[in-house]
Amino acid sequence: MPISQSPVLVTGATGFVAAELVKQLLAAGYRVRGTTRNVEKAVEQGELTSLPGASERLELVAADLNEPGAFTPHMTDVEYVLHTASPYILQVDDPQRDLVDPAVNGTMSVLHSAAETPSVKRIVLTSSFAAVSNGGRDEPYSEADWNEESSLTNGPYAYSKTMAERSAWDFMEEENRHFDLVVINPVGVIGPSVVNRVNQTHEFMIGMTNGQAPAIIDMSFPIVDVRDVAKAHILAMETPEAHGRYLTSAGAPPFRRYIDVMNDAGLDEHYELPKLGLDNPVGSLVVKGLMLTQPKGVREAVSPNLGAKFDLNTSKIENELGMDWMDIDTSIHDQAMDLHEKGYLGKQPD
Ligand code: NAP
Repeated sequence: MPISQSPVLVTGATGFVAAELVKQLLAAGYRVRGTTRNVEKAVEQGELTSLPGASERLELVAADLNEPGAFTPHMTDVEYVLHTASPYILQVDDPQRDLVDPAVNGTMSVLHSAAETPSVKRIVLTSSFAAVSNGGRDEPYSEADWNEESSLTNGPYAYSKTMAERSAWDFMEEENRHFDLVVINPVGVIGPSVVNRVNQTHEFMIGMTNGQAPAIIDMSFPIVDVRDVAKAHILAMETPEAHGRYLTSAGAPPFRRYIDVMNDAGLDEHYELPKLGLDNPVGSLVVKGLMLTQPKGVREAVSPNLGAKFDLNTSKIENELGMDWMDIDTSIHDQAMDLHEKGYLGKQPD
C-alpha cells in the first residue's frame, strides 16, 4: 500500500503497545497523530519525540477516554485510527469507574468521532484475548469464542475489554457506516519497551526476580512480542481485505522457560531466580493454597490458569494478513535484558 499522507491516529500513544506502534509507523514513513492525556509529560519524557522521523511526522495531542467528543478534533484528515488506549490495570478500587467506563465509553467516543468524520476508512481496535476467554480451558480457542464469564467482580479488566469490543461491534451493526472495524486480540504482550515504564505484563517477570514468585509453577501463559503486536495492527490497517477479529499469539511457553532463558542470559548472577519446581500436580495444589494469601488481582490471574495448556488457533491472522511470529525465547530474552538494563528486575512492588 502506498504510504498515505493523512495522519494515522494512534490513541494512548505513550502506552507499551502504542509506543512500539508509533515507532514502526514512523519507520514505515507514515505521519502519526498520537493522543495522550498529558502531552506536556510525553514531550518532557521524550521517548516518542526522539524516535526517528518524529520531528517531521509525529504530532502529540490531548484526549481523555472519559471526555465525550475528545477525539473528534483529532480526526481531521484521518483515514486510519488505531485505538489502543484503555486502562490495563489488574488491581483497581472501583472496577466500573476505573476500568469499564473508560474502556467502553472511550471506545464509543472514538467510534462516534469517526462516524462524524468522512475521511475515516478503518478503525483497528486493540481488544484482547481477555475478550475471548478468561482462560482455564484446554481445547483450542478461535475468533468465534467470547469471554462469557468475567464480570465486575470476577476479572474486571477482562470484563472491560469484552464490553468495549462488544459495544464496538454493536455500534458497527446499527447502520451502514462509512468505515470498517478490524479487531486485534493479543494475548499477554511482552518484549522490550520504547517507553521507560513498567507495563502490567512486565510485573510477572519482575515477580520472578524479586522473591514474589519463589517457585516454578505449572503455568503456561500465552504471549506475543510487542513488536509483533504492532506489526499485526499495521497489517490490519494496510490489508484491504482484513475483517473481523484476529487472535494474536506466538505460543504459550511454560513458566520454566522464562527461568531457563534468564539463566542462560546470566541473570541468575544478579537475581535470586526461583529454583524450586512446583510445576507438577502436587505442586499445583500447594500453589492454589498459597494463592489465598495473595491480592485478588494476582489470585484471579494465576489460580484458574494453573495446569491449563493454552492452545490458540492463529491461522486466521497468518493466512489473511501474512503474519508470522518472532521466536518466543528471543521475546523473553529481550524483555528480560530491557527490564534489567532499566533497573526494574528485582524491584519490590511499590
Ligand atoms: P499501557 O502501557 O498501560 O497503555 C495504555 C494506554 O492507554 C496509556 O498510554 C494511556 O495513555 C491510555 N489510557 C489509559 N486510560 C486512559 C484514559 N482515561 N484516557 C485516555 N487514555 C487512557 O497498556 P498497553 O499494554 O500498552 O495496552 C494497550 C492496549 O492493548 C490496551 O487496550 C490493552 O487492553 C491492550 N492489551 C494489552 C495487553 C498486554 O499484555 N499489555 C494484552 C492484550 C491487550 P496516557 O496515560 O498517555 O493518557
